[in-house]
Amino acid sequence: MSESTIRSAVICGSGPAGYTAGIYLSRANLSPLLLAGPQVGGQLTTTTVIENFPGFPEGQDGNKLMMDMETQAKNNGTEILYEIATGLRREGDHYVIESTQGPIKAYTVVLCTGASPKLLGIETEQTFWNYGVHTCAVCDGGFYRGKEVVVVGGGDSAMEEASYLTKLCEKVTVVHRRDELRASAVMAKRALENPKIEFAWNSAVEEVLGEVESKHKKRVTAVRLKNLKDGSTRDVPATAMFLAIGHKPNTDWLSGTVDMEDTGYLKIDGHCRTNLPGVFAGGDVHDHTYRQAITAAGFGCMAALEAERYLSREGLV
Ligand code: NAP
Repeated sequence: MSESTIRSAVICGSGPAGYTAGIYLSRANLSPLLLAGPQVGGQLTTTTVIENFPGFPEGQDGNKLMMDMETQAKNNGTEILYEIATGLRREGDHYVIESTQGPIKAYTVVLCTGASPKLLGIETEQTFWNYGVHTCAVCDGGFYRGKEVVVVGGGDSAMEEASYLTKLCEKVTVVHRRDELRASAVMAKRALENPKIEFAWNSAVEEVLGEVESKHKKRVTAVRLKNLKDGSTRDVPATAMFLAIGHKPNTDWLSGTVDMEDTGYLKIDGHCRTNLPGVFAGGDVHDHTYRQAITAAGFGCMAALEAERYLSREGLV
């Protein structure tokens, strides 16, 4: 396709929302192009078994689920480009999506760029980033077999990461800033009853301690915790710290173009419409309430159907 071709629809993002949008738009004969983004398959590729996606009574591996969604989108006619969208602007009657491959033109754009793990923002988190500080137990937990590790957070992600890590590690300390978990009852119960998990309540990570020999040779030895009730500190021996403290929507590249909340979540109406006509959004990029794979897929479907309606209403197909 030449640079001057204007696509009917371009989808940005390759999580459940993006692939579902691809399935729907390709089945509507709109030959969508999907820009996969920096993490192909999105966040689910970093989880273990997905137990709450309907249709899989025994659960499904996150990577497998996303690979199957990608295959389904491709089989239906979605063209997938393993590039990253970097900007969006209006030009005449269409949009231009700037990407790592160059500019791409489209009449409609479906934004499904999801969200990324949040970090604590302390200096030593950066010092040991990827050398003991991680955000994905499934990806990096294997390095810490038989060792003691720390997980930060009190939500479902933290409980999931901690429970997973107990299968590999000697001991897992969950650090939570309050004395009550945010996690769902079933996941909280599983973690609270796990004998390999210890909880550090009302605590915050003050520092990651370790040894730095060189840029690529460093290791974590402990995590310094501050008790938020009495201000006391203590060092918990650990070879790794896994952060599970929520997510930030991947919308920096849309700043100043698409209306968003202060937190970066895109603002949409009940029909997945952004403030820009013909630009729709679906999934974690706007949804800070449900943030589930199944809701993301549902939003991707809605955004695609709305894009399809927009194209026919505007006489663009
Ligand atoms: P979350 O529910 O927003 O929980 C984030 C946790 O991190 C909270 O406990 C929060 O503390 C803590 N936190 C936030 N910022 C912090 C900071 N700067 N320092 C220390 N602690 C901080 O995020 P999530 O666990 O990633 O879950 C997101 C959504 O995905 C939820 O709807 C969840 O149900 C879903 N999810 C589902 C599954 C599953 O069903 N298999 C697995 C993972 C996630 P406070 O509690 O004090 O706010």
